[in-house]
Amino acid sequence: MKITEHIEQAKDTLISFEVLPPLKGKTINSVYDHLDPLMEFKPSWINVTYHRSESMFKKKLDGTFEKVEVRKRPGTVGICAAIMNHYKIDAVPHIICGGFTKRETEDALIDLDFLGIDNVLVLRGDAAKNEASFEPEKDGHHYASDLLEQVINMNHGIYIDDDIKNGGKTNFCAGIAGYPEKHFEAPNLEIDLQMLKQKADLGAGYIMTQMFFDNQKFFDFVKACRDLGITIPIIPGLKPITNKKQLSVLPRIFHVDIPTELSNAIMKAKTDADCEQIGTEWLIQQSKELKEFGVPVLHYYTLGKPKVIWNTVKELV
Ligand SMILES: Cc1cc2nc3c(=O)[nH]c(=O)nc-3n(C[C@H](O)[C@H](O)[C@H](O)COP(=O)(O)OP(=O)(O)OC[C@H]3O[C@@H](n4cnc5c(N)ncnc54)[C@H](O)[C@@H]3O)c2cc1C
Repeated sequence: MKITEHIEQAKDTLISFEVLPPLKGKTINSVYDHLDPLMEFKPSWINVTYHRSESMFKKKLDGTFEKVEVRKRPGTVGICAAIMNHYKIDAVPHIICGGFTKRETEDALIDLDFLGIDNVLVLRGDAAKNEASFEPEKDGHHYASDLLEQVINMNHGIYIDDDIKNGGKTNFCAGIAGYPEKHFEAPNLEIDLQMLKQKADLGAGYIMTQMFFDNQKFFDFVKACRDLGITIPIIPGLKPITNKKQLSVLPRIFHVDIPTELSNAIMKAKTDADCEQIGTEWLIQQSKELKEFGVPVLHYYTLGKPKVIWNTVKELV
């Protein structure tokens, strides 16, 4: 079922979770172990992130180095199929521009369609670790909007391969990313919002946001979107802070601010358990307020912290 249909049919705020594929070498059971306790909350769907490969230098026996492409977290599509089969709920793979040609994307979308996957979260992806800024493949997409256009085209039976006449129509509901605190490459929030509107106008079904720790930023973002004529549902992405290191890591990697009240409390915490308690309480308050605001869904980035998410969601049901 499409995310938009889940939202239309909902009687209350929905819950959804996001998982990362496990590190290569681990089995699907690690995904089930992570998700099993959270299934109690009957999530409407599970997102599965996509991780592109990285170039690494590996030492050879003769002492020289060779450059190899390593994917540390493969398996997005397989995990989605496994989740759908195991839990009988929808799974949403993230698809990215980086590392893919348009033809490879077309083939990947055909696989997803054949698997009965109705939803994709359409993203550009970040620059590869060895690149200063994002570089598309030679025949790849530059922006998420270009990838979105390909998805929408396939929904109309239009394939890259123009030998295909009367191509079968896929029926994907495509989500897009939004940034309440602005995407870090955008010169300002206004331009970033115009780019978001471009994606919405192309036919995206909903927006899923980057994590944020100050709800006011989300409320302002929703208002700015609505003022600009973006009408699709906006789903807040939520993540707990559980240790002191995250106070610098999260702003560096995700370009988000941490409110002073939260950072002060975490800095004063004596143990990791105290940090986790503070982070959980903050997330519970954020979730309650967002629910009251009327968000259609609370989407949790579970990233290795299913217990914290469990402790949070149990306060909401
Ligand atoms: C909910 C969520 C889930 C994510 N999941 C993953 C994941 O699984 N794997 C992964 O690798 N990354 C993931 N990311 C990270 C994401 O790939 C990065 O934030 C990336 O840098 C931008 O992706 P985007 O889809 O927002 O890109 P875009 O929409 O292409 O925007 C990128 C930048 O370009 C600008 N821009 C957009 N269109 C144009 C245009 N036509 N002309 C000029 N400028 C333009 C935008 O303002 C923005 O600054 C996720 C992010 C979010 C918020």
